Amino acid sequence: MGLDVNTLFLVTIYVEAMLGLLLLFVWVQNAVIHAVAWWGCAHLVRAASVMLFGMYGTVPIAISIDLANALLFTSFAITWTGARVFDGRKPHVLYLVAGAIVWLLACRIPYFAESMELRILLSSGIIAAYTWATAYEFWCGRREPLVSRWPAIFMLFAHGALFLLRTPLSQVLPWLPSGLALESVWLTVLSFEALLFTIAIAFILLAMAKERTELRHKTAALVDPLTGIANRRAFLEEAAILGQRRGAEARPSAVLLADLDRFKSINDRYGHAIGDKVLQVFADAARGKLGPCDLIGRLGGEEFAIVLYDSGREKGLAIAERIRLSFENAAMEIDGLAVRGTVSMGMAISESGALDIAALLAQADEGLYCAKERGRNRIEFAGHAEPDRIRSAAKSQPVRAAAQGAA
Ligand code: GH3
Ligand code: MG
Ligand code: MG
Repeated sequence: MGLDVNTLFLVTIYVEAMLGLLLLFVWVQNAVIHAVAWWGCAHLVRAASVMLFGMYGTVPIAISIDLANALLFTSFAITWTGARVFDGRKPHVLYLVAGAIVWLLACRIPYFAESMELRILLSSGIIAAYTWATAYEFWCGRREPLVSRWPAIFMLFAHGALFLLRTPLSQVLPWLPSGLALESVWLTVLSFEALLFTIAIAFILLAMAKERTELRHKTAALVDPLTGIANRRAFLEEAAILGQRRGAEARPSAVLLADLDRFKSINDRYGHAIGDKVLQVFADAARGKLGPCDLIGRLGGEEFAIVLYDSGREKGLAIAERIRLSFENAAMEIDGLAVRGTVSMGMAISESGALDIAALLAQADEGLYCAKERGRNRIEFAGHAEPDRIRSAAKSQPVRAAAQGAA
């Protein structure tokens, strides 16, 4: 199959449509940068329009009446305006005037640049200047986290260079190929366009893959892989951030430190794998009792920390008690064994909501120590005796029995 203008024309439309769809997909995945959607739509609109035009006229006619230029220019203008508007700036009036001139040329208004040479010089020159100016703007641009600025800069710069090929300048400047037939110029332009779009697609796919890997690494660094809740580092960081915000709201927060009772004996009796399952059950039970503004993290081993939003003493105790009961009553049937576990908790209250998380956890730890001292399976405050006791673990626990058995 020979590589003629028509084939290349189709290939370019196809690749450009793919690029448009990919950009829209990127936008759907990460709807933060709206300019990406504009850019995608512009490519789709241009691909569709050029294709429609190709169906109704032959390619050389499509080229000669400059409609393709106007469409291309409009697609760039949409991209550029989108990028600029979403960067908090206004469209520049010079660019809009340039757009109007390109369209006037495309519409062949009588007495307005009637000679074909002049039309080509004007429209191609304007587009080249426009794409280079836009490439420069992208270069100076501030943010483009997902689709890096580089493909855009490269594409726009190369596109501008391609348009210079079509101006009569190409006959004057020694470094531009001169004396080419219209068809060979378009062969060059189209093959470069198809190549550029393909490179852009490759860049975007690479950027997406990189982003996904980074996200995976970031998540792995912050999430406890066993229970799926925040790990110690993430919990402490989030609590510190939340504390600053909530201090201003002046609402109390309750901080809980939970430690599973006689967990070592569960491990000893049933094995480490079942111990792991028990940890997951506790994390799920606790998570099920928390509101969307609460925070939970696994500090390590069988120790968990929780921050309850807008919870003073009473409300905090009520929620902690629900968590304790939910875990105590969780039916853990693992490998045909009915495993039971209980949890002890210490609690501290920040009346203002400001979270000096280290100090509050230290207080809660004192409460936890009290709870363990007083027989486990209960919730205590630091430095408080009987009145704050919620409930003694009067019922004998299989865990305890297991511990005694193991002792
Ligand atoms: P207490 O009621 O006083 O808290 O008794 P305990 O046995 O729970 O106390 P201790 O802190 O001595 O035991 C914690 C055990 O938790 C020891 C360790 O083997 C086990 N452990 C720590 N991390 C993991 C884990 O990721 N999986 C499992 N299965 N066990 C763990
Ligand atoms: Mg323990
Ligand atoms: Mg422990």
